[in-house]
Amino acid sequence: MNYLSTRGHPDRKRFCEILLEGLAPDGGLYLPETYPQVDTATLAKWRTLPYNELAFEILSLYIDDIPAADLKAICAKTYTAEVFGSDEIVPLRELEDGVYLEALSNGPTLAFKDMAMQLLGNLFEYELARRGAELNILGATSGDTGSAAEYAMRGKKGVRVFMTSPDGRMSPFQQAQMFSLQDENIHNIAITGVFDDCQDIVKAVSNDLGFKRKYRIGTVNSINWARLLAQVVYYFAGYFQATASNDKPVSFTVPSGNFGNVCAGHVARMMGLPIQTLVVATNENDVLDEFFRTGVYRVRAAVDTHETSSPSMDISKASNFERFVFDLVGRDAARLRQLFVDDLGLRGSFDLSADPAFQQAAERFGFRSGRSTHADRLAMIRDTEKRFATLIDPHTADGLKAAREQRVPGVPMVVLETALPIKFAATVVEALGEEPARPKKFEGIEALPKRVVQLPADAEAVKAYIAEHCD
Ligand SMILES: *Cc1c(COP(=O)(O)O)cnc(C)c1O
Repeated sequence: MNYLSTRGHPDRKRFCEILLEGLAPDGGLYLPETYPQVDTATLAKWRTLPYNELAFEILSLYIDDIPAADLKAICAKTYTAEVFGSDEIVPLRELEDGVYLEALSNGPTLAFKDMAMQLLGNLFEYELARRGAELNILGATSGDTGSAAEYAMRGKKGVRVFMTSPDGRMSPFQQAQMFSLQDENIHNIAITGVFDDCQDIVKAVSNDLGFKRKYRIGTVNSINWARLLAQVVYYFAGYFQATASNDKPVSFTVPSGNFGNVCAGHVARMMGLPIQTLVVATNENDVLDEFFRTGVYRVRAAVDTHETSSPSMDISKASNFERFVFDLVGRDAARLRQLFVDDLGLRGSFDLSADPAFQQAAERFGFRSGRSTHADRLAMIRDTEKRFATLIDPHTADGLKAAREQRVPGVPMVVLETALPIKFAATVVEALGEEPARPKKFEGIEALPKRVVQLPADAEAVKAYIAEHCD
């Protein structure tokens, strides 16, 4: 399998070459040259496989530069009941007739990002050992991504993590999750500033090519193809649990921010998994909902991005969206460049409303969308608790709201649960007046010793810290 850039760069790469890379050299995103097709005989064979073996089967269609036995071992080591809390790994539960929740949040940090990040940690360790190389991951987080990355990389050979976060702005639970890690290779850096300052620092350091090369700086952000690929697996696993045979269609609703999660659903559908509809659920930051309703993609500036009670979806420029639009315009790289470089770069928006391609988003690719507000989230959390004795987090609530609007009788609707309620306790308390339950392993973490340094919002200070801790 070879990978290409959405912006038309002539080079073709193999999986392990793009594993440790971010963007393609022309600023595009990597995609496989073709989507491997899965027929009904293959689906029938896969239906009864344990999750780690299903992961191996799907990954091996996209990875041909890791020996099969090694890849199998990596999948077996990643997707265990000890790490993800059950043999099913992603158990499905029916809420009401035809509406299901797929649990993706029982990994080490209680959000779905563990599903991909845990695999990434093991792939990184494997590939770095093979190359005899090291990697220093520099990141910026407002919560979920940073903790998922740290729990995936802790104790891994050849990898260090330098994670910046805005000082005092994460929830106490999220802070405790990250700062209580005592591993030598994990460095928490609390920046005096806001999340955008952290992101600017990461950009400034990455743009210093001399520093980047010397200190082997890498990232784990959501445009990484390996992360997306890992997420494809749970669409198959969800499909198999929601159906008794492989001729039945299923729809999915996905709480979305950077379009990474739902893009994995798009890939699964392109492979031939019988997905009828992919519902993109947003909060008040509704850039994606606007596109699927109107054909206009209009990114917002940081100051126009609302701080909401589903904060992991407070994104106004969906970094993975370019992958889907590439398929939408028939993989025409020149057209893609015009939209993402010219139109978006110059005007901050593009408009496909008059383009026949826009009709295809719904008709050929099965996309729908929905939007919710703080009041909707509270109502969903209350209703789900009252009628089904189930606690959901505010992001999953965004999903459930859109799912109810878009569901069609006779077609199972699977809502992806993207975090556990304890991570966003304040909103759950606002809705129900009670604290959500806390898994045993997190009892009392706020009281544990913290490993974190405070630095000013200054790229030079962060560089000096990295340099000092690299030998
Ligand atoms: C990251 C995240 C999302 C958004 O996922 P994308 O892949 O960025 O669309 C939604 N919910 C939670 C809880 C998250 O952590």
